[in-house]
Amino acid sequence: MNGNQSVDSNGEKERQVAEKFLSKFNLAVEDGSLSFGRFRSICEELFQPDEIQREEWRIQDMFGLFDQDKDGVLKAQEWRRFCDWLRVTLNPVNALLVVDVQNDFIDGSLALRKCEYKQDGAEVIQPFNYLIKNGRFDNVIYSLDWHPADHISFYENLHLRELHPDSKVTKANAKPFDKVIFADPHLEQILWPKHCVMNTWGAELHKDLVIAVDSKQVLKGTDPTIDAYSAFCDNSSKGYTELQAILQKLTVTHLYVGGLAYDVCVRATCLDGLRLGYTLAVIDDCCRGIDANNTKATKKLIAEKGGLITNSQHVLAIVNEGKRSLVMSHQSARVIALNDQNFSQSTPNEKIKKNALPCTCPNSVPE
Ligand SMILES: [Zn+2]
Repeated sequence: MNGNQSVDSNGEKERQVAEKFLSKFNLAVEDGSLSFGRFRSICEELFQPDEIQREEWRIQDMFGLFDQDKDGVLKAQEWRRFCDWLRVTLNPVNALLVVDVQNDFIDGSLALRKCEYKQDGAEVIQPFNYLIKNGRFDNVIYSLDWHPADHISFYENLHLRELHPDSKVTKANAKPFDKVIFADPHLEQILWPKHCVMNTWGAELHKDLVIAVDSKQVLKGTDPTIDAYSAFCDNSSKGYTELQAILQKLTVTHLYVGGLAYDVCVRATCLDGLRLGYTLAVIDDCCRGIDANNTKATKKLIAEKGGLITNSQHVLAIVNEGKRSLVMSHQSARVIALNDQNFSQSTPNEKIKKNALPCTCPNSVPE
């Protein structure tokens, strides 16, 4: 791993890299203006020809995101957006996020192979290990589903709490994997078989998974009264895990996500990551799901929200060989344009607040 990219003084190193890159086009970072034709030439320099051919529309769309007054030229504030985008495209801070590769999802009480889709969770270990050993990520972070024994999500704990009268499934007829509505806290919950109880074998990361030096671990689902699918926050978006603070401290810009289960915790983590402003790729061969249709729908949804669905070989080419992805860079452009728009519409006090993107997890209540 190399942590150098996150250590620099006020982005000076990034500025220099962008400056050097732009000098090829006789342009400087400080000021300038840029036509679509020149922007396209810059993209040809940055991205692979086959991806440009497939995803040509994204170049047009990115230019449109920067060109606020739609006069076909980037200047002033628009030029600054372009420079911000170029800096993050040239200097990503890459983190690998390994979601819930734990015994219970592989060989234990919630083993994926016992579900109808019959996927084998153990199959993610080999591609993950390959990436962890060979990928030059700035950081590797592991999330762990980590529940107290009286957790609300366990079918076995149904007797501990009252159901809401609106719950179609009653205590008498409830089966594992049914969805119920609890009275207090008033929330919908799938009843999972008891799994990942903290400090037990089931909650341990699989013994064959390589743990990277200097990596971090994030625990989720620790509150007995609320489940947490996303590695960022619980299902009500009220309780945060440490993940967002860790990523901000490490100045991570690009997330590469895989793990178990594709259609539950990987899904929720990716959707939150995208909403929180990260440029994100899902590593398809590092994921296994519970349900075939939900897994298919998950990929479609993440792609629609701006994520790249790819494989470990491609991720290695991105992080090790600098083969940038146009799909990911398009997402960076969206985030920069959105932040800039929010920022310029704010009063000075709001500007301070808006420097941090709010959590917009499902069901989140705006502050
Ligand atoms: Zn769980």
